[in-house]
Amino acid sequence: MQDTPLTIPQITEKPQVVALFSQGLDSILAIKIIQQQGLKVQAIKFITPFFGYEIKGCEAKFCDQVKSAYAIDLSIIDLTDDYLRMLAAPQYGYGKNFNPCLDCKIMMLSQARILAETWQAASIVTGEVVGQRPFSQRRDTMRRIEKLSLTEGLLLRPLSAKLLAPTKAEELGLIDREQLFDFSGRGRKPQIALAEKMKITNYPTPAGGCLLTDPGFAKRVKTLYQEGIPTSTDLNLLKFGRFYPLEGTSNFIIVGRHRDDNQQLLKIADHNYFILHLAEMAGPVAILKGDKQHLPLAAEKLRRHSKAKNLSSVKVEWRKGSKSGNLTIETTLAG
Ligand code: SF4
Repeated sequence: MQDTPLTIPQITEKPQVVALFSQGLDSILAIKIIQQQGLKVQAIKFITPFFGYEIKGCEAKFCDQVKSAYAIDLSIIDLTDDYLRMLAAPQYGYGKNFNPCLDCKIMMLSQARILAETWQAASIVTGEVVGQRPFSQRRDTMRRIEKLSLTEGLLLRPLSAKLLAPTKAEELGLIDREQLFDFSGRGRKPQIALAEKMKITNYPTPAGGCLLTDPGFAKRVKTLYQEGIPTSTDLNLLKFGRFYPLEGTSNFIIVGRHRDDNQQLLKIADHNYFILHLAEMAGPVAILKGDKQHLPLAAEKLRRHSKAKNLSSVKVEWRKGSKSGNLTIETTLAG
């Protein structure tokens, strides 16, 4: 599954334990439990356009914040290229939406295993809790994921460890099993009580999570996969505005709904996209991924979502990289 060689983060001291950091309380607790046993932990946060991408471009700042808030050493790894390829045909299929949960977890754990091998770390830690999520944290699924990611005996879930078979690090006495926990189920009370006991107060509330589990967004992403693998820029544009797929293709038009959408769309769209706006009055921005022949349709979508919607004739300007031009939309076109 790993096509692109993994970038090994630069670290100053080899860790004894590698941990997956999700930003949520459970992963913070799992890391703190292991740190309290005197072990050096290196946390890793994987990002893709579907989760954690807000960190892109400010990785160092984010890691500094995590270090000062929780005393956790963190590195960020962008999995986008491999992830986008995997999403085209996940070996174990999709969940309810376009979420390839099994392949996703296997990919992250396989990467963590490579890091653990590189650093000769004894264990990989996650904040998973048995039975917390209906599918991916069921005991049988957890075991299956371990097998498929080749992390059997290496993968330790400190919050539920006492309900699971001992890992090698526990058997060797490197990690004291007695100081691990037996949490299970969806309730949050034990974690909150443990956080209080450990004086962790400023933990983040559960975030929006993975965009691939959002039915509306997942549908947009699926459209883009009709003709190959989209780019991360395509996917980032999909997060804003009204989306109009160009039927039978992976091309699309997006029209900003408000100022924030417009600003984001302008920030993201590069020379591969047409950018349209009204020539004679303020209004939304439209982005077109497609051929020049689709410009009238994009201009029409733009007109419909602007103050010019009732005008009989509307001039729209466009640019794409160094090229630019304009066109006039007559209301008869609107239909
Ligand atoms: S919800 Fe998203 S991030 Fe979580 S396992 Fe599934 S695909 Fe991966």
